[in-house]
Amino acid sequence: MIRKLLRKVFKRPATPARHEPAIIPVERHGIRREQLSPAARKVCAVLQEKGFKAFVVGGAVRDLLIGQPPKDYDVATSATPEEVRAAFRRSRIIGRRFKIVHVMSGPETIEVSTFRASQDAESAETDEHGRVLRDNVFGSQQEDATRRDFTVNALYYDPGTETIVDYHHGVADIQQKTLRMIGDPRTRYREDPVRMLRAVRLAAKLGLTIDPAARQPIREMGPLLENVPAARLFDEMLKLLFSGHSLKCLQQLRGEGLHHGLLPLLDVILEQPMGERFVTLSLENTDERVRQDKSVSPGFLFSTLLWHEVLKTWENKKAAGDHSQPALFEAMDEVLDAQAGKLAITRRIAGDIKDIWALQPRFDKRAGKAPYRVIEQPRYRAGWDFLRLRAQAGEIPMEIVDWWDDFAHAGPDRREALLRQAPPDAAPAAKKRRRRKRKPAGENAAAAEATLADPS
Ligand code: ATP
Ligand code: MG
Repeated sequence: MIRKLLRKVFKRPATPARHEPAIIPVERHGIRREQLSPAARKVCAVLQEKGFKAFVVGGAVRDLLIGQPPKDYDVATSATPEEVRAAFRRSRIIGRRFKIVHVMSGPETIEVSTFRASQDAESAETDEHGRVLRDNVFGSQQEDATRRDFTVNALYYDPGTETIVDYHHGVADIQQKTLRMIGDPRTRYREDPVRMLRAVRLAAKLGLTIDPAARQPIREMGPLLENVPAARLFDEMLKLLFSGHSLKCLQQLRGEGLHHGLLPLLDVILEQPMGERFVTLSLENTDERVRQDKSVSPGFLFSTLLWHEVLKTWENKKAAGDHSQPALFEAMDEVLDAQAGKLAITRRIAGDIKDIWALQPRFDKRAGKAPYRVIEQPRYRAGWDFLRLRAQAGEIPMEIVDWWDDFAHAGPDRREALLRQAPPDAAPAAKKRRRRKRKPAGENAAAAEATLADPS
């Protein structure tokens, strides 16, 4: 209390200055301003012209130093959000707790944030585990550097002078391929447990080694992730799965003991012997698409990651005597509900996932009018991609996948021919109907229900 009061009275920064930053010239780091996106350069130039400090900061500087193309650009500035907003016509203030400004320029959006003070657990509002709940005090550039997570993320690039302002030896750490926490790792994980997941993701993505001091506490502090709001975990999981290095990230998560019990999805992905090949193929596929800059959909990825869980649950229900179709829908809900507590899969994504799953048994029916209805489904393409993945994993014959591709792209005559061609076991609906005619009425219900053929 007294220290807090003194700090207020003397207006001392929460974290006192430790050293002057190194100003690293372009000859030593090699990043030319032309390598930045035009929008990032423009935003810095406009703010600097108005007399503010403005730097490209965070992931973009780090990635350029490593030689990877930046995903997006963040700018840190001494201007307040309102001053930033006033400087750019196409901009808007977002966030209530801590305002940042999105500046639109051409097709790009640059995230501009005002220098923020680091908040130690003493001065900040925290939950009962020490997690910082508010992080919304403006500060100096130095304080802004200190509140960032890793040294390699606290580098400020000035496009005007092409220099890097480096408060925490981040450039040296990148050269030594080390991911080092700023400050005491245990304290920083307690303030924000998501930093453990960020450590694993960034190390895997960038080929860095987590410094032992930052790595060692993870195993023991992992359970703190349980207190992180589900929506935030979901965002972080998406970043991890769409990093272009998802397999490596997940292996490393397992290596650090972060997968158990924390996120049910991870238990499922990493511990299922049955679906391992399927999941691995799906992750490899996703990594490849991300690296080629192709679109990726969370719904599709999650549907693959959880598919064998659905199959297992569905089989159990059928073995217990449930009817096939309602059993499938119940299994889908159960599997998604099991994730919901920890991982806030949004309703829209859950809808996509279910559409993809629900299409799978329908691919078994290759007779009558049914195939025409299947190819008109809005999620047909995703459902077919999923089917192909199942074939690649050895779950079903590839012939079915080719048949559907052929059918979807064929003209009317060819389609009729394909319907006649499909092997008899691919047309259970027709078969059952024929059989039903000869059977007593009482068995009709079961036969009709059985038309939803199992995919396995
Ligand atoms: P990428 O964008 O490649 O995922 P990034 O490091 O840029 O990586 P962002 O989430 O865009 O990640 O964050 C931008 C910057 O904000 C980081 O580089 C880091 O300086 C800071 N930052 C982000 N998350 C945290 C956190 N949990 N704790 C402290 N600083 C953070
Ligand atoms: Mg970023």
